[in-house]
Amino acid sequence: MQLIVMLLDMDYFFAQVEERENPLLAGKPLMVCIFSGRGELGGVVSTCNYAARALGVHSGMPIAFAKKKAPEGAFLKADFEKYNKASEAVMGIVGAHAKTVEQASIDEAYADITQECNGDFKKAAKIAQEIKKEILKQEKLTCSVGIGENKLIAKMAAGEKKPDGLTVVKQGEAAAFLGPMPVGKLFGVGKKTEEKLHALGIKTIGELAKKEEGLLKENFGNSFGHYLFEASKGVDEEEVREREEPAQVSKVASFPEDTNNREEIAKMVATLAQGVHEKLCEGGLEFRQVTFIGILEGLQTHTKSKTQEKHSQSGELLKSVAQELAAGFGLGGKKMRRAGVRVGMLQKKQEGVEEEGGKKKGKVAQGEAKKQAQKKKAQGNARETKAKTQKGADAAGGQKSLSDF
Ligand SMILES: [Mg+2]
Repeated sequence: MQLIVMLLDMDYFFAQVEERENPLLAGKPLMVCIFSGRGELGGVVSTCNYAARALGVHSGMPIAFAKKKAPEGAFLKADFEKYNKASEAVMGIVGAHAKTVEQASIDEAYADITQECNGDFKKAAKIAQEIKKEILKQEKLTCSVGIGENKLIAKMAAGEKKPDGLTVVKQGEAAAFLGPMPVGKLFGVGKKTEEKLHALGIKTIGELAKKEEGLLKENFGNSFGHYLFEASKGVDEEEVREREEPAQVSKVASFPEDTNNREEIAKMVATLAQGVHEKLCEGGLEFRQVTFIGILEGLQTHTKSKTQEKHSQSGELLKSVAQELAAGFGLGGKKMRRAGVRVGMLQKKQEGVEEEGGKKKGKVAQGEAKKQAQKKKAQGNARETKAKTQKGADAAGGQKSLSDF
């Protein structure tokens, strides 16, 4: 039977949830921010609504920049508990319509609906419409859906019409659908790759699809070259499968140039720690162990870890422990090429239960928490198995740069 995959992507998710909670905000520029705690405007925009985008604000932009572009806008602190709750409700609705659901992030899920629609694209579109209707009715939220013969095409289709879109790319139509698109739009192609492709005279996905695999491997390495060769033709063999709870969350990045400058390393560690913290919050997770990963010139990798007595979700703690580990990291006269921050020994965040006298006491709401844990298994675990290695250290800025390694 013809495989049919759907990708459901919530529209400007965090900001849309905030608009729903406070209708007065709708239509005005709205930025959901992750504040770093350094100064009033320290931090980045996590998500913004379309009114903000129209003014040039985008995800990953420093809050101070966004403030200049949208001085009258609302700047809200990200409230992951709220978004997790909405996410669970949405994922529940998707799960009611499809047996195999792979939650790719807090606001994205793939579903293999081959059986449910009997391999028929028309029926698939109907199922998607029903899901969209239910989400709108129950959660008052819109989403964009893409349907295709594999995950890649579903993902590309979902990006075609936003917000509140539904795009179906039937079997055999992938080449015509992808062909005219700018090559930078291909999933996994970030800024650096795009520039390199342009330098090779490749402007569209269709032009990329005509290139020899050998040429792509030569320029982009075996693994990513192979990916570009296949993806440009809409080929993707990755299955939709439910994910396990991540055992750890990490981020690794390269320095612009190999360095032994401790200040530069500490700065990088702070950025990585912030990214890891964001993933923890999205997944409703807390950590006990922090690891610093140092990759030196010559590519020797060393790690240093520290385990805390208690679990925590504190971004400040995460950053300070990671920086402490990095500061104590022996370079042995070498320079560092890449650095990473990883947290392990994860668990679901303990629910703070208000006690008399305003004291908070940690307590896991049994049953329900367990159920949520099951549902949220995939969070913080975006669809990266393949894309992450291919994206490499590419995709500077914006959400793509937040991919885990
Ligand atoms: Mg989204």
